[in-house]
Amino acid sequence: MKKYYVNNRAQSNGDHEVHQEGCRYMPSDKKYLGEFSTCTGAVKEAKKTYSTANGCKTCSEPCHTS
Ligand SMILES: [Zn+2]
Repeated sequence: MKKYYVNNRAQSNGDHEVHQEGCRYMPSDKKYLGEFSTCTGAVKEAKKTYSTANGCKTCSEPCHTS
């Protein structure tokens, strides 16, 4: 299980990126989502807060869609 966080600040395209603990792009202004075995569950959780949540291209590539 890995800890996941969502960026409280949107990217320029409006997405709120979801990061796995240890990602080098981890933002300082973030919300803890919980522990998940894959990014799928983390993004689903993040979407409760931000409907535009999306996986980080670097640490959660399988969940990166835009
Ligand atoms: Zn990341």
